[in-house]
Amino acid sequence: MEIVKYGHPALRWKAKELTELTPDFKATVRRMFDLMYEARGIGLAATQVGLPYRFFVVNTTADPKETDEELVFINPEIIRKKGNTEGEEGCLSLPELYGEVARAEEIVLEAYDINGEGFEMECSEILARVIQHENDHLDGVMFIDRMKPDEVKELQANIDDLETQFRQAQAAGTVASDQVLREQLSAMEKTFEFPVKAAPGDDHDFDNGEADDEESEDDFDEDE
Ligand code: ZN
Repeated sequence: MEIVKYGHPALRWKAKELTELTPDFKATVRRMFDLMYEARGIGLAATQVGLPYRFFVVNTTADPKETDEELVFINPEIIRKKGNTEGEEGCLSLPELYGEVARAEEIVLEAYDINGEGFEMECSEILARVIQHENDHLDGVMFIDRMKPDEVKELQANIDDLETQFRQAQAAGTVASDQVLREQLSAMEKTFEFPVKAAPGDDHDFDNGEADDEESEDDFDEDE
């Protein structure tokens, strides 16, 4: 698993709701947090690691030691928005690019947590911003789409560079073609599989967690 960069079709994919949390799910979430910390991010959406499902992870401290601050949002829905505020955003799929984006100042959202329990959350400030940013990713929307056109223009050369790098990787065969990547995303949508592979030297065990959470899975289905 890796963070995909601009040009990857997953970033323009409308992700699908999860209907069950398979045993691999928790390991996938753990791996996403680790990737996010490595990249010094505060949020990471499933589509950013090539998974076509509606969930994302957040830790506004960006500090791996602050595990109490780790939040997982599954099938999130922003049900209320209030106010408007501009602020700078960046994105792990658009490295080194930053721009001003207008977002709601306060939001209320509904989602499921990592155990499949439904919850409602009211938030503001940085948490409200990162949630709106990550939630956009689940609809294939990136922060540059929400910037003022004349401000995007200033970033356009860098955006084009990222796209060129991605196409070059495809031409070199280190990344699959768009068609193959799209077929993989479609196939995953049908199976709800989490094809998580540990990187060499990675000490995570992705085969555990089989037994737990049967009850919370039920709860997850009920609350749909
Ligand atoms: Zn992003």
